Amino acid sequence: MDKPVDNYWKKRIDNLKTALEANNFEVFTAEDAEDAKRVAEDIIIPETGAKSVSWGGSMTFMATGLYESIKGNSGFEVIDVFDKSVSTEKKSEMRRKALLADLFITGTNAVVDTGVLVNLDMIGNRVAAITFGPKNVLILAGRNKIVSDLDEAMFRIKNYAAPANAMRLDKKTPCIKTSFCEECSSPDRICNYWTITEKSYPRGRIKIVLINQDLGL
Ligand code: SF4
Repeated sequence: MDKPVDNYWKKRIDNLKTALEANNFEVFTAEDAEDAKRVAEDIIIPETGAKSVSWGGSMTFMATGLYESIKGNSGFEVIDVFDKSVSTEKKSEMRRKALLADLFITGTNAVVDTGVLVNLDMIGNRVAAITFGPKNVLILAGRNKIVSDLDEAMFRIKNYAAPANAMRLDKKTPCIKTSFCEECSSPDRICNYWTITEKSYPRGRIKIVLINQDLGL
């Protein structure tokens, strides 16, 4: 068989799509980051009719190229919380405004085979937007985020995603030295708000693109 690894993940992604749909998420699949961008731009975003768009921290979102593409589209009011030229105070206000956007785009820390999203935030703006506020949420998820159960999701997040993210963001936390979580009390702690999203309410508000490529942390 050609590409056995891709075929393995295709089967698992197809099963996960069914499980997520049963939990009222609207689900799409993509072969890679470029294909995910096409699915988002050609199908998902036009369907939402979104006029205002914002996002929360996601390496997967950046890898698709959607960030540059939406920023360069004058048809959208963009609330760009990634803009490094903005002061901390103003960024906080933008994150609050983002909760009222028509469309919020981000990634997820884990997706369980049973069709559940698991996330852990530092600030909470991303998990807040996934939960309530924006009319539509678009989640971009690489295959490396797929796990078997809630325990694996939480273990993955605390002992892989969070330490690796702390390293990426140059945080002064113990996990950057040990590579695993030490339940720190550091002022730089990036693990503050857990969410488990069991279903999308209303049905279809949360749209997910499952991507057959390792993307993000
Ligand atoms: S709680 Fe602290 S030590 Fe544990 S992963 Fe988060 S930042 Fe690292």
